[in-house]
Amino acid sequence: MKVTEHIEKANGKTLFSFEIIPPKKGKNIQELYDNIDPLMEFKPPFIDVTTSREEYVYLEKDGLLDRHITRMRPGTVGICAAIKHKYNVDTVPHVLCGGFSKEETEYLLVDCHYLGIENVMALRGDAMSHQKYFEPSKGGHNYACELVRQIRGINNGKYLHDVVEVDHKSDFCVGVAGYPEKHLEAPSLKTDMKRLKEKVEEGADYIVTQMFFDNSKFFKFVEDAREAGISVPIIPGIKPIAVKRHLQILPQVFKIDLPEELIFEVEKCKSNAEVRQVGVEWCIQQSKELMEFGAPVLHYYSMGKSSNIQKIAKEVF
Ligand code: FAD
Repeated sequence: MKVTEHIEKANGKTLFSFEIIPPKKGKNIQELYDNIDPLMEFKPPFIDVTTSREEYVYLEKDGLLDRHITRMRPGTVGICAAIKHKYNVDTVPHVLCGGFSKEETEYLLVDCHYLGIENVMALRGDAMSHQKYFEPSKGGHNYACELVRQIRGINNGKYLHDVVEVDHKSDFCVGVAGYPEKHLEAPSLKTDMKRLKEKVEEGADYIVTQMFFDNSKFFKFVEDAREAGISVPIIPGIKPIAVKRHLQILPQVFKIDLPEELIFEVEKCKSNAEVRQVGVEWCIQQSKELMEFGAPVLHYYSMGKSSNIQKIAKEVF
């Protein structure tokens, strides 16, 4: 079923969902299942699986370091199929512009169609760590809105080069990213909102936001989006702080603000366990408020660890 159909069917009740990251190459998928198992009692109608961006790796060859570009956590579509089959739940693979040509994206979408995957999250991807700015792959897309257009095209039976007779069209439901505190490269919140609207006009069916720790940012974002004429469901993405280092890493990587009160509480902690507890309590409070606001789904960034998400969901759902 499509994400939008799950939301409609819930008839105003807030749903629980979460995002997982594929294991590193060579690892067993069992660890992933061990993290999903405890969350299934909260009946997620869909689970997102991220796609890792490409990275530089250095391998020693003849005494010299040889540089390669690789994806350390491949297998997104395979994992989606495995989870769908094992848990009988819808899965949402994240499809990136970065590192893929349009043809490769087309093949990936054909795979998804064969596997009965009905939802995809269309994203640009970040710049690789050695790059200052995002660079599209040869024959790839520059922006997520172009990717949304390609997916819509395929839904309408338009493939890239081949003249094909389509007798079984795909009908992907497409999610896109939104940024309550603006995307880090966007010159202003207003410009970023214009870009978000373009993605919806290209055919995005719903929006999932970047994490935020101050709900007022999300409330304002929804208000601005509605004012801009965006009417699709907006799903808040949230994450509990888990280690002290998050105080530096999260603002640095995602260019988001952390509330003073949260910083104060985390800084007071004497152990990781205490930090995790503060993170869980903050996230419970955020979740309850977002539910009251009428968020259609609360989407948790699990980062591969489910124990704190389980604690939160127990209090909220
Ligand atoms: P876009 O919508 O293309 O926007 C990127 C920037 O370009 C923005 O600043 C926007 O304002 C600007 N822009 C857009 N269109 C135009 C235009 N026509 N002209 C000029 N400027 C324009 N990353 C991963 O690598 N893997 C994942 O699985 C993943 N999952 C994510 C899930 C969610 C919910 C979110 C919020 C982010 C996720 N990301 C993931 C991170 C995402 O790839 C980055 O934030 C990336 O930098 C931007 O992606 P986007 O799809 O929002 O890009």
